Amino acid sequence: MKYKHLFGPVNSRRLGISLGIDLVPYKYCPLNCVYCEVQSTTHLQTTREAFFPIQEILGELDNFMQNRPHLDYITFSGAGEPTLNSSIKDIIQYIKTKYPEYKLALLTNGVLLTDDDLLTEILPCDLILPSLDAASQEVYEKVNRPKPGLKVEDQIQALVKLRQKYPGQIWLEVFIVPGITDTESELNLLRKAIGKASPDLVQLNSLDRPGTEEWVKPATTERLKEIKKYFAQELKMPIEIIAKIKHHPGSTSLDEEIVHLIRGTISRRPSTAEDLAAMLDVHINEITKVLRELNTEGKLQAERKARGVFYSWKR
Ligand code: SF4
Repeated sequence: MKYKHLFGPVNSRRLGISLGIDLVPYKYCPLNCVYCEVQSTTHLQTTREAFFPIQEILGELDNFMQNRPHLDYITFSGAGEPTLNSSIKDIIQYIKTKYPEYKLALLTNGVLLTDDDLLTEILPCDLILPSLDAASQEVYEKVNRPKPGLKVEDQIQALVKLRQKYPGQIWLEVFIVPGITDTESELNLLRKAIGKASPDLVQLNSLDRPGTEEWVKPATTERLKEIKKYFAQELKMPIEIIAKIKHHPGSTSLDEEIVHLIRGTISRRPSTAEDLAAMLDVHINEITKVLRELNTEGKLQAERKARGVFYSWKR
């Protein structure tokens, strides 16, 4: 069965062996982050929609889960923002009822958590991983380029409310864009906002492969360590720099197959991540993860053109 909504399992840097469920079409999101690895948002929206018949998603999941594979998490993530799907409540309930032995994670930019109904719907998840990259409106608009009208303060207050209502684990991702989000004043505001949101863990992230905008550069390890130290002066929760992808023995066969397909394609013709996803009929997130890994290993050449970032295999 070819899956339209499932991808992986992939070796996720944060979640181990994770089966992804993509709940929104490419690419719906309330933000258009400058560092987004799946490229520009084409549908900048905050309105929640069903998007697909729920049976289409659940049918794929049942098919995949027939043999009860080993997974560290089933994760709502994808090329856009999963909470935009208005059926998420029913999907969560279905998974929790039918597959109670599996842990469920939600990756979200946190924008829609201002909606109290949504906040209640996601309570059964075992782990919620929201993001917060800026705490001033000016930097929020520069880095996350939200749908006009969205306020970062509302997002921060929603994180505070999430903490009050949600008993599970919250791991907050902070993406560092050097020169923009790591100024002294922004880090100071961020630290205060994180203190209020009080997640269980803070994860500092930075660019791994070309983002939507060429000017975005990765933060150095040294800089990430300085930021970690700065946050740790006032924050009580653990703070970690997200490590590069680690291989999990026994779970790499799918990745290897995709690596083989990608190599065969881009050795002949430079392609974007979206081209590869369409040509190889592999979910964009899976392509993105493999490209990130290959880029880290120095095997790719990336060239930005009008239509996006084109990858070719280094000779
Ligand atoms: S990084 Fe996440 S929140 Fe930002 S535009 Fe991409 S999908 Fe949306």
